[in-house]
Amino acid sequence: MESVKNNIVLEPKVYLVGKPALAKKGLADFFNDENIFFAIQNEPLTRMKFLEPKQKDWTINTDNPAEILCMTAGKICYDAYGKGNNDIEPYIKNIIESGHHSVIEHAQWNFIIKGSRIWSHEHVRHRIGIGISQRSQRYVKESDANFVLRPEIAKNPEAKKIFENLIKESQKAYDRLIEIVSEDIKEQIPDSTLRIKTVRSSSRSVMPNATETYIFWSANARALRHYIDLRANKHADQEIRKTAIQILKIMQAEAPNIFDDYEIKKTAEGFEVAITKLDRCLDRIKKQLEEQYETRNDEIKLKEQVIAEILKVIESKILQTKNIQFLKPQMK
Ligand SMILES: Cc1cc2nc3c(=O)[nH]c(=O)nc-3n(C[C@H](O)[C@H](O)[C@H](O)COP(=O)(O)OP(=O)(O)OC[C@H]3O[C@@H](n4cnc5c(N)ncnc54)[C@H](O)[C@@H]3O)c2cc1C
Repeated sequence: MESVKNNIVLEPKVYLVGKPALAKKGLADFFNDENIFFAIQNEPLTRMKFLEPKQKDWTINTDNPAEILCMTAGKICYDAYGKGNNDIEPYIKNIIESGHHSVIEHAQWNFIIKGSRIWSHEHVRHRIGIGISQRSQRYVKESDANFVLRPEIAKNPEAKKIFENLIKESQKAYDRLIEIVSEDIKEQIPDSTLRIKTVRSSSRSVMPNATETYIFWSANARALRHYIDLRANKHADQEIRKTAIQILKIMQAEAPNIFDDYEIKKTAEGFEVAITKLDRCLDRIKKQLEEQYETRNDEIKLKEQVIAEILKVIESKILQTKNIQFLKPQMK
């Protein structure tokens, strides 16, 4: 069966399908038991104020469930409801900058993402704070699969033709293998489910990397930040970079205080990347060093090269630990 289907997609696509919600009764019960007056913006959740002389008073100045959950978790560490920093924006900023990242693990979002199997191979390498359910090529027949066409191939007619021919041929091969293997193992495997799985498992081996896949993906805010750090930058492959940028845009709308320190910029090559506070800080240091190069003698230049190398090491260490606190003086 030969068919040319309209089955080419150009971009990975991210759908936000789930987000944190508050169990307000539980929160109210907890704060009532602790004798803390608790209000979300102007809405009191607990009994009225001033029932007891020693009652603490905590009004949180956001109604964003994810941010409320994270701040409540952070405040429990130091029994700090109503005490200290009560403004959500600097509170979350400080949590992130000080490396107290377990606090932002309490908010989780759910996504469905469609991309190629090239993309999914990289995407599923992220393990911590993440749940993954991927469309199975053993259970799902791939005769009608979509294929992700890379922009570099799309813009060259010859390259695009090669791609389209390969897709056509691999789909033909897939469908033919389904027929051949089904026939061959008909007697050998009487269980129909096992037989279908075996047939599809072996036939999928001719499907290209560009075959589209679906992943249901759940990640907490800490894992999302790590993913964005690694995948929304110029070193990442373009398809996963696009999913990371789409996720970042969604998250900046969903939980601005947790994700607003990222800045999305266009590179000279014309694609979007996320710039972190750390990137901005290191850029500034590097610029300062470069400016000094023009006015100093060679010996000093050498020393500065050494400093630049040390900075590279610090940068990679920081990216590993995410604890950027010791760079604070330069950030001011
Ligand atoms: C630009 C780029 C190029 C890459 N190239 C390659 C490549 O050529 N080949 C390849 O195989 N992979 C490659 N990768 C994938 C990379 O090695 C990671 O597997 C992937 O980025 C997931 O990162 P992660 O392990 O930090 O994430 P997660 O699995 O989510 O882990 C999060 C963090 O938890 C901690 N952690 C997780 N597991 C352990 C553990 N077992 N022990 C101790 N600490 C742990 C670490 O701090 C880790 O950073 C590349 C990634 C990038 C961004």
